[in-house]
Amino acid sequence: MPIYDAIIVGARCAGSPTAMLLARKGYQVLLVDRATFPSDIFRLHIIGGSGVRKLAEWGLLDRVLATNCPPMHRITVTFGDFPLGGRPPGLSDSPFSLAPRRVVLDQILVQAAVEAGAELREGYPVDDLLWDDRRVVGIKARTTTGTAVTERARIVVGADGVHSLVARLVQAPVLREVPPQTFGYWTYWSEVPLDGLELAYFPEQRRFIVAAPTNDGLSLIATQGAIADFHAFRADIPAGYHGAISLATDLAERVAGGRQAERFRGSADLPNVVRRPYGPGWALVGDAGYHQDPILAQGILDAFRDADLLANAIDQSLAGRLPLDAALADYERRRDEAGMPVFERTLQETRLEPFPPDLLRLRAALRGNQADTDRFYSAIFGTVPPEEFWAPDNIARILATARLD
Ligand SMILES: Cc1cc2nc3c(=O)[nH]c(=O)nc-3n(C[C@H](O)[C@H](O)[C@H](O)COP(=O)(O)OP(=O)(O)OC[C@H]3O[C@@H](n4cnc5c(N)ncnc54)[C@H](O)[C@@H]3O)c2cc1C
Repeated sequence: MPIYDAIIVGARCAGSPTAMLLARKGYQVLLVDRATFPSDIFRLHIIGGSGVRKLAEWGLLDRVLATNCPPMHRITVTFGDFPLGGRPPGLSDSPFSLAPRRVVLDQILVQAAVEAGAELREGYPVDDLLWDDRRVVGIKARTTTGTAVTERARIVVGADGVHSLVARLVQAPVLREVPPQTFGYWTYWSEVPLDGLELAYFPEQRRFIVAAPTNDGLSLIATQGAIADFHAFRADIPAGYHGAISLATDLAERVAGGRQAERFRGSADLPNVVRRPYGPGWALVGDAGYHQDPILAQGILDAFRDADLLANAIDQSLAGRLPLDAALADYERRRDEAGMPVFERTLQETRLEPFPPDLLRLRAALRGNQADTDRFYSAIFGTVPPEEFWAPDNIARILATARLD
């Protein structure tokens, strides 16, 4: 029986790039998923700056743009007061943000893994892991015809999402856990023009609204609310949804002129969980490693970043430069360094609390100051180092030069 260098369980935002990157380095990779592709997974799909940059780095951005996914060059945010619109710099000629449908994006990622040389098995559910003493050495799975199979590898990667079977089977330690704080509902509209990414916050009503142009000329329009309101909202979804949208009056007017193209979808399954992402013979990546509320739209770009970090760590070990444990410990350190500050910020945002007066003052000061507004949004979307924008001197300069009307 061949022994793969790596078996990756789960072939979407985390698994396919991990498989692609390892296969591009010449490793024998088996990529498996119980789903078949192309297929949708019902999540929102906004990818900010650093995620777009990763797609470009991997040579996949043009493919995503070629699916007729409108590039978003602008972002506008309102708190029900005034819209503050900016144009964070993307890459040269590319958008700072994109919202490709998952059915489209995931297909491109799977395809890229296969082109790189990974072996793909679809409709292939993994049921269990193979162990040698206390070390994971492979998977037990079923083929499309139901035949039980085992496959062996030097490392098994769980990229199998928030309810990861791999994490459960290896008993990956949970390092942090906060139950769901919000819920979300969304649908797609035709003939609702948008000016790039549009966000609206209404802390008093505990509602957040996000709108983004996506494939096929459709506009994704979603609302998120506090988990305490979930059951009341779900009792009458259209009323709850339109009640939320009506808070954003300008958007509501455009929605009134549009046509709902798909049924409502929603989720309150939005836990915040951080797991130790490695152990003997196994590693976790993407939502399997840590999952956070989607309010800051970080999941896809985190999955991309960690696919890169994990593929490098596995390469370090398989190439004999570092013992596997040391390479994976470094993966965890880098993941946490990059991800945990955002995880904490996400938890803060999920409280849907009124904004701190300092932020409101800064927002007011940015009004009419396009260059700094662009940099403000760039810092949020990671195309400008946040510490540079939020440096006290920089904030003091913006407040001092604010328009006084
Ligand atoms: C409501 C909602 C809205 C979101 N909005 C955004 C957003 O706007 N922007 C953003 O960046 N992120 C968003 N996210 C987060 C984002 O969807 C995830 O972070 C991302 O999907 C993680 O990708 P993944 O590859 O780790 O897992 P997944 O996309 O969940 O893929 C896991 C794969 O593993 C496969 N699998 C699972 N178990 C097995 C098994 N036993 N055998 C074989 N295969 C298996 C599944 O079939 C699936 O294909 C949102 C999430 C939710 C829930």
